[in-house]
Parts: sequence; C-alpha cells; structure tokens
Amino acid sequence: MTTALVVAVDGPSGSGKSSVSRATARALGVAFLDTGAMYRAVTWAALRAGVDLADADAVARHVRTVALVVGTDPAAPTVAAVVEGVETDLTEAVRTAEVTANVSAVASVPAVRADLVLRQRALIESACLAPAAGREPGIVAEGRDITTVVAPEADVRVLLTADESVRLARRAHQDLGAADAAALEATRDAIVERDRVDSRTTSFTTAADGVVTVDSTHLDFDGTVAAVLEVVARATGGRA
Ligand code: C5P
Repeated sequence: MTTALVVAVDGPSGSGKSSVSRATARALGVAFLDTGAMYRAVTWAALRAGVDLADADAVARHVRTVALVVGTDPAAPTVAAVVEGVETDLTEAVRTAEVTANVSAVASVPAVRADLVLRQRALIESACLAPAAGREPGIVAEGRDITTVVAPEADVRVLLTADESVRLARRAHQDLGAADAAALEATRDAIVERDRVDSRTTSFTTAADGVVTVDSTHLDFDGTVAAVLEVVARATGGRA
C-alpha cells in the first residue's frame, strides 16, 4: 500500500463497531481511532471538575482546556488527559457507568463537537502522513459521525448495524457476563436510551449516500470483520 487508507465506521451502541474496527485496523496494518473514547474522556474531565453539565457554555469552555492524548495502536488503544499538568491514563476510567450516563449530554453540545471533530481530523491526518513505525499509512476511525462529518471523504465508509435485541444481548454479555432478563434490563439504558438521546445529535441508524451498511445481526465477530474487510477490498479495488 503506498497511499494512505481511511476507513470510517459508524453505528449504534452494541453494534460491535469498536472491536470490529480495531480488528479491521489490525488486519490492514493501520491505526485505530475510537472517537467515543474522546467524548468519554472530556466527560470524565468535566465531571471531575464539577462542571454543571446542563450549562452548555460552561461545558464547552471546560472541554477546550482539556488536553487529550490519544493512542491509536489497534493492539492497545489508549486515551489520556493532562490533569493539573500530569498525563493521566483514562483508558479504564472512561468506561464507568457514571461516564456512560453523562457522555450524551456533553456530546450534544455543538461547540464540544466542533472542538473534538477538529482533534479527530488531526489524528486521522497524522496517521496518514506520519504513521507509527511498522504501521501502514492510514486509519480505521469509528464513532457516530465519522462517515458524515469527521471524514466524509474517507476511502471507505461503513455503517455497522445489528438488531436491537442482538446489540443488547452482546453488551449484556460483555459488561455483565450474562444475557438473562435481569442483565438485559440492566443494559437497556446504556444502549437503547443512550442511542435515543444521541440520535438527536448524530445520524447513525441509516446509511448516508455512499455509505455501505454491514448488518452483523446474523454474523459472529470474525464474520463481521471479514464483511468489513470485503467492503474495504471492494472500495479500494484490492489496493489495501
Ligand atoms: O462509542 P461509545 O459508546 O464509546 O461513545 C460514547 C458516546 O460518545 C456516545 O454515546 C455519543 O454520545 C458520543 N459520541 C459522539 N460522536 C462520536 C462518537 C461518540 O457523539 N463520533
């Protein structure tokens, strides 16, 4: 591969877009960007600073001051923030229920989105122009608005979907180790309600023009990665 390859992946919660995008990046030998982790990290920072999340101006002002350090190695993606001058790893901290419950409020602030979109574009550009040692130029970037806002010019654009019941069961398994009625109920808010709120801000349930839908309802993990790689191969004419 000589020219950089940008693969944009969007989808709802529990569609598997994070793990599938990561595996796709590994297979292609390119970088991986989890944009949700960036929204989560600034939410963590706003919560820690005691910012009133109902005050959009205050949230946007605070987010502008948060320096993020995003690691795009698909083998070990990381996110950190510089807190009081010290780089603090947040890779685990951004996954707490508290962050999950509050991230949509922060992500719905237009000035926060404008800020993070710029940072995401810079990370994509850097992975294309200055790939890490041993990596091919390019990136698989995943989120809710990558195919439409962050990288509408990406070489490959994919919407990864799955039926709601399947997404719920997968997330319940992942977070709680079971998909019985209690586990499904406990997971519902983090999936269905968050998607409902998020869909007021971003459009990730139907594919925009030129975006290929991959429905993983009846596919296992490897089958989904293979389906995405097939879309990449078709779109690039085997270049990747
Ligand atoms: O993908 P993940 O669940 O980690 O995303 C966390 C949250 O970040 C989403 O619920 C959404 O509010 C926000 N997000 C976004 N745009 C993106 C990625 C994530 O608004 N591109």
